[in-house]
Amino acid sequence: MTNLSSNPWQRSQAELTKAGKLLNIDPLLLAHLSEPERIIEVSLPLVRDNGEKEVLKGYRIQHSNILGPYKGGLRYHPQVSMDEVKALSFLMTMKNALINIPLGGGKGGITVDPKKLSERELERLTRMFTRRLGNIIGPEIDIPAPDVNTNAIVMSWIADEYRKIFGENTVAVVTGKPLAQGGSLGRPEATGLGGAYALLAILKKLGKDPKKMTAAVQGFGNVGRNVAYFLQQAGVRIVGLSDSKGGIYIPGGVADIEQIERCKEQKGYLAGCYCVGSVCDINYKTKVNGRDISPAEVLELPVDIIIPAALENSITKDNAKKIQASIVLEMANTPTTLDADEILRKKNVMVIPDILANAGGVAVSYFEWYQNMHHESWTKDKVFKKLHSKMNRAVDSVYKLSEEYGVTQREAAFMFALKRLEKAWKTHPMAQPILYE
Ligand code: NAD
Repeated sequence: MTNLSSNPWQRSQAELTKAGKLLNIDPLLLAHLSEPERIIEVSLPLVRDNGEKEVLKGYRIQHSNILGPYKGGLRYHPQVSMDEVKALSFLMTMKNALINIPLGGGKGGITVDPKKLSERELERLTRMFTRRLGNIIGPEIDIPAPDVNTNAIVMSWIADEYRKIFGENTVAVVTGKPLAQGGSLGRPEATGLGGAYALLAILKKLGKDPKKMTAAVQGFGNVGRNVAYFLQQAGVRIVGLSDSKGGIYIPGGVADIEQIERCKEQKGYLAGCYCVGSVCDINYKTKVNGRDISPAEVLELPVDIIIPAALENSITKDNAKKIQASIVLEMANTPTTLDADEILRKKNVMVIPDILANAGGVAVSYFEWYQNMHHESWTKDKVFKKLHSKMNRAVDSVYKLSEEYGVTQREAAFMFALKRLEKAWKTHPMAQPILYE
């Protein structure tokens, strides 16, 4: 059972209430944001390849469209629950407001372990989910995207099924598509690169030289790999890495990240990827002065920056006390529990919150949607430049607000997002209920 501190919905509501009080926000807006606008729960009959039948559960939560069509990922995971999806949809509303894109917040998922399904089963399930969602999604209504265990292929099935029902010119119904099916250059790297931009902008404000900083990254998937790669390119010494099975610690700095990626691809896991020249092997551990670590230990290493890029609730009251870093870059969604957040605040650890750190993903999803809607195709350079400018602006605004109010980066990020929502809310029909008479 989740406790209050780690229940994602209650935690996000606590943040909302805190920010609302500090800014004296219209209570009607706060009430509006404390419940999703629409909750959809669907049953999904699935015929397995062997003919067996079962019925799964899927969700889509449309939290708020104050700023524009709902936008957020679809997650396939055995632990997907209404509470989790609700919290993540709320965070999308806040994230999209913070990064300044004209989109609202949504999230969805299926309670399923996709690793136990064949590709054909996964495709049938995704197409059934698309039919069930029907016309509550659409390029100007609600635009899903990939999240945990969903990817460009899953998005291409949704786009194709949607096109069959609603016709041509509907490719903008999802983002994160393969390039050949209307995807955007730069989307795969966007979340990690955006996080690197955010961190580098913060280091500049703190007067710290990236080349003198060390970092450790938990999670070596799409986000973890990319943030480690781009930070290493900027001169940050990456000394610790882990995935779900184990990790490595090399005080002098790991080899180049692409080489470690190739090693992990070959072996299926990251542990033992000690590289010398172009060869990576467990036997090189002593040569590079390395040490094996557990996936959890990576967050407790003697480094300047830790980067949780795997799961929710990876920083809890138990390990928060052991954290030695002075900066936490939250690339995963909700990696820090409420009580851990309080411990870090007391220890003067700067936490760059998830809604800021990982907003690069949805920023480039918006660019993809925009290109689709306007029949454009941007270069990767253009995508990265626009992403850089969005991340820098968001960091600037949050940092300024945190200084003005003497609050943490997380509190300031929620406050800044809320300010933007309040501005749009003033002219929103819901703010004048009389219109509905
Ligand atoms: P992914 O599935 O590609 O990678 C997850 C990684 O975490 C894998 O390397 C896995 O081995 C590792 N992992 C799992 N359990 C672990 C554990 N106990 N200890 C250490 N490592 C563990 O997922 P991703 O797309 O990289 O997403 C990672 C996080 O970032 C998620 O919280 C996701 O919600 C968030 N996020 C992703 C995006 C995106 O664009 N992909 C955008 C915003 C936020």
